[in-house]
Amino acid sequence: MKPRKKKWVRGAGVKLKSKAVSLMEKKMISHLTCIGFEAPGVPNARKMKVNHEILKAKLGGKAAGLAELDRLRVPISPAINLATHLGQIFSGGDSLPPVFLSTLKKALMGMESKLGSQFGSSENPLLLSVRSGSRVSMPGMMDTILNLGLNRDIVESLSKRNPEKAWFWWDCYRRLILMFSSVVLGCDRHQLESTLDHIKSKNFYQADSELSPEDLQEVCKQQLLLIRDRGKAFPEDPWEQLSLSIQAVFRSWNNERALHYRRIHGIPEDWGTSVTLQAMVFGNLNEKSGTGVVFTRNPSTGEKKLFGEYLIQAQGEDVVAGIRTPQPIEDLAKVLPQTYQELVRILKKLEIYFKDAQDVEFTIEDSKLYILQTRSAKRTARASLENLVQFVQEKLLKPRQAVDLFSYQEAKALLHPALKPTDQKAIGRGLAASPGAASGRICLSPEAAIECQRFGEPAILVRQETSPEDILGMSAAEGILTATGGMTSHAAVVGRGMGKTCVVGCTDLRLFEREKRLVIHQTELQEGDWITLEGSTGQIFSGCLPAEPVSWTPAAKKFFKWADDFSELKVLANSDTPDQSRVARDLGAQGIGLCRTEHMFFEKGRIQDFRKMILAETPDQLQKFSFRLLEHQRHDFDEIFELMRDLEVNVRLLDPPLHEFLPAKDDISEISILAESLGVTSASIIQRLGNLHEHNPMLGHRGCRLGISFPEIYRMQIKALARAYADLSQKRNNKMTLKIMIPLVSGAEELRLLLADLKSVFQSELTALGAEKIFRRVKWGTMIEVPRACLLAGEIAKQVDFFSFGTNDLTQSCFGISRDDSAKFLPLYLEKSLLRSDPFEHLDVEGVGLLIQEAVGQGRRANPKLEIGVCGEHGGDPKSIGFFSKLGFDSISCSPFRVPIARMAACKEKKKKAHRERSRRIQGSA
Ligand code: PEP
Ligand code: MG
Repeated sequence: MKPRKKKWVRGAGVKLKSKAVSLMEKKMISHLTCIGFEAPGVPNARKMKVNHEILKAKLGGKAAGLAELDRLRVPISPAINLATHLGQIFSGGDSLPPVFLSTLKKALMGMESKLGSQFGSSENPLLLSVRSGSRVSMPGMMDTILNLGLNRDIVESLSKRNPEKAWFWWDCYRRLILMFSSVVLGCDRHQLESTLDHIKSKNFYQADSELSPEDLQEVCKQQLLLIRDRGKAFPEDPWEQLSLSIQAVFRSWNNERALHYRRIHGIPEDWGTSVTLQAMVFGNLNEKSGTGVVFTRNPSTGEKKLFGEYLIQAQGEDVVAGIRTPQPIEDLAKVLPQTYQELVRILKKLEIYFKDAQDVEFTIEDSKLYILQTRSAKRTARASLENLVQFVQEKLLKPRQAVDLFSYQEAKALLHPALKPTDQKAIGRGLAASPGAASGRICLSPEAAIECQRFGEPAILVRQETSPEDILGMSAAEGILTATGGMTSHAAVVGRGMGKTCVVGCTDLRLFEREKRLVIHQTELQEGDWITLEGSTGQIFSGCLPAEPVSWTPAAKKFFKWADDFSELKVLANSDTPDQSRVARDLGAQGIGLCRTEHMFFEKGRIQDFRKMILAETPDQLQKFSFRLLEHQRHDFDEIFELMRDLEVNVRLLDPPLHEFLPAKDDISEISILAESLGVTSASIIQRLGNLHEHNPMLGHRGCRLGISFPEIYRMQIKALARAYADLSQKRNNKMTLKIMIPLVSGAEELRLLLADLKSVFQSELTALGAEKIFRRVKWGTMIEVPRACLLAGEIAKQVDFFSFGTNDLTQSCFGISRDDSAKFLPLYLEKSLLRSDPFEHLDVEGVGLLIQEAVGQGRRANPKLEIGVCGEHGGDPKSIGFFSKLGFDSISCSPFRVPIARMAACKEKKKKAHRERSRRIQGSA
């Protein structure tokens, strides 16, 4: 992001008149907010009467959460927020103007008097954390610095005065040097950390707590030496530390990880980060202190049970970094029972207030609980849906609100694949951090994962633990596996947020990165070998195992039913086979909006009969082969109709060009088989193939044009439909509506000719079967998929009961862009902003939309009972569904796995439609 133009004069040596200074201060103060304390003249979060979204935009998500906590009288440590607006100005890395620091000092004095401590004091120092915070959570992407306000003199004096705390103060100082130097001075964190490891291994210490204060003092010294060797200097002046840290955290908005994260999640570049200076509380003070992370409900499954971890005598980063293995949150009840009870009480209060599951960070300092941060829990789509259903049952939300709170992204992720049942034994198991099944090649570094993806191979990133530097590799991988870290470790939180399958903390995993190999329990694998993760159980398998879509839970069924209750659009599925129809029904489709009958001919055996029917030379042959096909078709219809017995099924007669079914001209063996079975020469078959060849098949002999030139094909299909429908009518509970649809018409004349013939064939077939009564239950319609049909829709509408817009072909023919070749140049169009989006993905409202609007208008005027639907791919795209809803469509139809998203969109978009109508009415009456 380009930093915004400065709004005030900056830089040392700039002389400002006192009036101007006070104006600057006023301006500056308006971007500061006190949270949890008062400072004269500085805005206070408790008094801000704005909603949470506005608060988040101004203060950043974390500080807005803190402000809400303070309003709720939840114990927090006081904080000063520097608004995102300042982040927008200083993200470029400029130094802070003097007026900034003088104004900040005023606010800090308020905090000091509340706490009775002083920033920079060597007697009772106030230490600060400097935290980033964007409007939406970007976990681990930007920087944080803890324990600001210490220096060697201060630590020595504090340790002298209170020798029992010497360990604690040196540890705080060590951490400050480490964080400050890596974040602000750009030193290598691992190298600095190695000083601690070195002293630990020299003395055979296992835990940090075994180090003496002198050891820690030595670590600090070594770290400072390393920094000096890099030509950098650690500032001993607390104010300099503070000013440089604020600048660095503002700047971290533009680090590579953050940029990438924003790109993946579509976060606008100009939002900027805020900085929050918060008084430190110390989880590492003593054994009655600690720190932890807790989710109010399980973020993987949604179960209503606290889920989290804590560490005694530790600071927050220790939990998230996954270096020490934390304890499950329930154990805190045994160690510090009263504090645990208070935590549980607060968590309940937070859920009720935010009406959402929370992800809460807390610190305990000498048994006193502080809530550091609360936010909507990042969780799997399944957990999110389960929670919404629970909240409706707990009367915290109304069903309609619950639907609005579930995102399309989550609905998509809900259909994560799971492993098919297998006899294969898992080679190991870790914590099930994020569900789904993922197979891929083992990649031991983020770079390897990116490379693997570039070659079109799925990657599984395997790491000891992940850190924000791994973000690009995590995003390139299908799944993530780590050896250490818990359910709230970086890998778990980020993996879950990205919707990646993730297994963490596999203690049996040993990595030998230099040798590019790993061992899980007793299985040795090399980088590049295939591995499979099952994120719902934490199991790890060697090799590539087949996966299948997840089952639809009862909670999902209930939830999506609410969406249906509020929608006006019927959601149907495009389904050609009994298997697809089963899935569609399971996912809540209210029928089939498009059954592409040609797909039924592609099966082995059938295609031969189809070829023979097309190439038949005598009426006998035609009769024979079309009868065989009729039986095949009827069998498929029987099964589909049975599955959809109380719904509707819309069957489209044959659409694609015939040559798609025929062998290639040089496929000698297929040609001779055909020739033999038809009793003709191969040469005559080749000649027929030549006759049927087309230069532009998509614009050629297809759709209703085929029905006109090969009437036997459509008649055969109609007879099969009549027989299957008549059979169904004998069965109980049969309420199915059959719709028959003719593709690719361009005017009323084609329809007139075809419908007259087909209706009469259908009727005579029913009469022969004694089922003529069901004729009136059949609806006859057409697809609208070429511009001429849109322009002449009034005449067409008089012939039919329904229109179904084939927006794939309509987009193709409106743009004159072939559906099959668009990928060659559309990306360039998008890059050059010649198009806003791919029109085959999101309906082109400006152009194709105009045609649709015209056709709907004409159609409705000519035939007020006309039913209108869409069955192109746009029927499953929320944006396009908004447009269809606006035009008052009756139904949308999409592929079975998009049905849940379409059901949600049908509900959500209706609200927008109602909103639009309301504002139009208001404008009209004004
Ligand atoms: C369409 O054109 O939108 C359609 C649904 O038909 P097909 O994709 O089969 O051409
Ligand atoms: Mg089409």
